[in-house]
Amino acid sequence: MADQPAVRASGLTKYFGSRTAVDGVDLSVPQGMIYGVLGPNGAGKTTTLRMVLGIIEPDRGTRAIFGNPRPRAVGDRIGYLPEERGLYPAMKAREAIAFMGALRGLDWQEGRARAATLLENAGLGHAVDEKIRKLSKGMAQLVQLLGSLVHRPDLIVLDEPFSGLDPVNQERLEALIVAERARGATILFSTHVMAHAERLCDRLAIIAGGKRRFEGTVDDARA
Ligand code: ATP
Repeated sequence: MADQPAVRASGLTKYFGSRTAVDGVDLSVPQGMIYGVLGPNGAGKTTTLRMVLGIIEPDRGTRAIFGNPRPRAVGDRIGYLPEERGLYPAMKAREAIAFMGALRGLDWQEGRARAATLLENAGLGHAVDEKIRKLSKGMAQLVQLLGSLVHRPDLIVLDEPFSGLDPVNQERLEALIVAERARGATILFSTHVMAHAERLCDRLAIIAGGKRRFEGTVDDARA
């Protein structure tokens, strides 16, 4: 169903020992939007995204992706950039992207072809045959991001995608996110920088101390 939200979560709660990391968070991400989860370090953003994706199980609450309560069952429709970055340093950029696509069921040759186009469009055409270990940290991060979307997922979840990027690569990333929305994808990303949320988001949620403090448009958030 087209009007079904890409992500719907209700009352998500996670305890780590005696600490409540996430406390009753609701989230509804409409399809085709760029949606930001904004909050300071330790607010519970990563834990929330991991519960949404089914990487960790909530202690309370429910979530569904495209209406499916088992996120892993729709894994091939999802692209994910985790907070921990990691690519095989000996792989070439194009192969690293094709490899990540293959993990999501994409044909290897098709993945290689798409990888070259994605790198070109991202302004990284010169890096197609460069090994990951030769790339700057920011460029490697963008390569990993391209790997997370090479299979053309309907939902792209990015955990702090801007952190550690220099201004040039931040601009490349913004352009990429906007291009993915134009393709029809839904993008859900976390950040602790209001400026990134302001420039990009259609809607955002603000999380602090594990609780959702705000949900709405960027204009509403400013007010
Ligand atoms: P950051 O950007 O710093 O990662 P965040 O908003 O993503 O912040 P989380 O990583 O979700 O926040 O962490 C929320 C709280 O839960 C923090 O207090 C953190 O220390 C704690 N926490 C997260 N993961 C674990 C874990 N595996 N074990 C114990 N505590 C954890």
